[in-house]
Amino acid sequence: MNDNAQKNAAAGKPRRNYQLMSDEIIASLNGTTPTMLLHCCCAPCSTYVLEYLSRYFRITAYAFNPNIYPEEEFYKRRSEQERLISQMEFENPVGFIGEEYESELFYQAVRGLEHTGERGARCYECYKLRLARTAQTARRLGFDYFTTTLSISPLKNADWLNEIGASLEGDGLKYFYSDFKKRSGFKRSTELCRQYCIYRQNYCGCVFSAKEAEERQQKKAAETQNGQ
Ligand code: SF4
Repeated sequence: MNDNAQKNAAAGKPRRNYQLMSDEIIASLNGTTPTMLLHCCCAPCSTYVLEYLSRYFRITAYAFNPNIYPEEEFYKRRSEQERLISQMEFENPVGFIGEEYESELFYQAVRGLEHTGERGARCYECYKLRLARTAQTARRLGFDYFTTTLSISPLKNADWLNEIGASLEGDGLKYFYSDFKKRSGFKRSTELCRQYCIYRQNYCGCVFSAKEAEERQQKKAAETQNGQ
């Protein structure tokens, strides 16, 4: 976590309305349809975001997720992402770029923070890694905007995501502020998952989150057994 994020958290700084910021960006497009590189963490989180943003942008979905464990799960999520794009109907066409498995980048980024838990400092570095590569790729390929689907999850910190995204814009590349869970975005994503029979995982993605999910399940099972 960087100094600003720590200070904001400590000061209990009020959250910004990122959905309103999304609305303002869309209004500023004046009917044009710019290009966007959309970082997609997985198919379930992409459903609603693609449906919503493809009305206003020519999107390329970008699967760069070196955090995923194990490797088979990485390819399973990536192919589910591609299947979703091939089956959904969009107002503007949606392309796809999928990176290969580069897990060493993730382990390097979170070294020393492995056991800080979901929503902790480990996640901040994980967001930063994925957004930084997305911005770098978007700039190299000449996209107008970039953003990530991650803010749709109630378990992700929208303040951190938008703070990181804002720090990466520049040189003609703009960041699209978001909190996709708003306006029933998360609920709509669950409906679309059912409609397209999308595979949903029960852990965020990394080996640490898989272990944390397993521990939660074991605790719940023990509580049920003890009648709590
Ligand atoms: S819990 Fe999710 S966001 Fe956090 S480090 Fe693991 S994969 Fe990344």
